[in-house]
Amino acid sequence: MKPLKELTRPNIWALKPYSSARDEYSGKEASIFLDANENPYNTPNNRYPDPLQRELKGLIGRVKKVSPDRIFLGNGSDEAIDLPFRAFCRPGIDNVVAIDPTYGMYQVCAEVNDVEYRKVQLDENFQFKAADLLAAADEHTKLIFLCSPNNPTGNRLCREEILTLLRSFEGLVILDEAYADFSNEASFLQQLDEFPNLIILQTFSKAWGCAGIRLGMAFASQEIINLLNKIKYPYNVNRLTQQEAIHMIEKHYQVQQWVESLLHERTRLMQEFQKLACCRRIYPTDANFFLTRVSDAKKIYNYLVDKGIIVRNRSSVTLCQDCLRITIGTRPENDTLLEALKNYKEEEA
Ligand SMILES: *Cc1c(COP(=O)(O)O)cnc(C)c1O
Repeated sequence: MKPLKELTRPNIWALKPYSSARDEYSGKEASIFLDANENPYNTPNNRYPDPLQRELKGLIGRVKKVSPDRIFLGNGSDEAIDLPFRAFCRPGIDNVVAIDPTYGMYQVCAEVNDVEYRKVQLDENFQFKAADLLAAADEHTKLIFLCSPNNPTGNRLCREEILTLLRSFEGLVILDEAYADFSNEASFLQQLDEFPNLIILQTFSKAWGCAGIRLGMAFASQEIINLLNKIKYPYNVNRLTQQEAIHMIEKHYQVQQWVESLLHERTRLMQEFQKLACCRRIYPTDANFFLTRVSDAKKIYNYLVDKGIIVRNRSSVTLCQDCLRITIGTRPENDTLLEALKNYKEEEA
């Protein structure tokens, strides 16, 4: 890896961050706060939230077995995807490399930041070779994006290739593990020490059942986390979100139970799907969804919408012609989907 200073945009490296009242005094002991122009009424929402989310990071650190100073929290993974562009990529000069197909937000953030986005197509098993990503990179490549388990394909990426890439790439590797809780394969979290160029993304939106509160996590070296903290909005995670996340961690067992029942339903739904006349192929998955190739994705999508069932048509995505992406629901929801598809006639729609 190149020195972090060399990878960072010079203006960001030199930036003196905004210092809020709560940055300058964060002790809890004082009981009279007259420093932040807050309204003294309407507790507790009258107070600005902790800019560094210390209590929440302490709890997350314990669950994930990562030191709190290696955790960044953001307004969804969206923020943790966007900030590395702003920290490392000079608009109009630098570029990033990513697998294709994958999650669409990486490209959107690249375009918003005027950073060239280079795609390297996955093979027919939705796997990549480290050498192909390295071949697409040049001296201006700051970031490489991987997503494992991948969206929309569902499979996890080959661990050996990820390791090869981490060992050979001079820039930063962003590994999106939004679906890691649904996979049998271990997360890369315990390998952060080995790889100073690794940024791991996780989220409260999937296994934790909290898409509505907008809380994303990034795990990386303390040096990288400090940089992200320096450029984020001061109060990027609001008080209600921090409170709810703390509450969710207290009932962590519940998340475990959700994951177990979703995995059970995933197996059952995929077995039943295989028997459907319209199903051509089901791709292996490590996520809370699966990708399936069907006889005619557009017709089946519209047929299901008519019945009030919404799936995701991924036909327009590279390598995904006539593919639907199906999220695992509750058992009754999954049964309703199966029943509808059993009654689907090719001529009908
Ligand atoms: C759903 C998803 C996320 C989560 O994004 P949030 O902004 O945290 O809701 C991140 N990455 C991938 C690949 C996803 O599919």
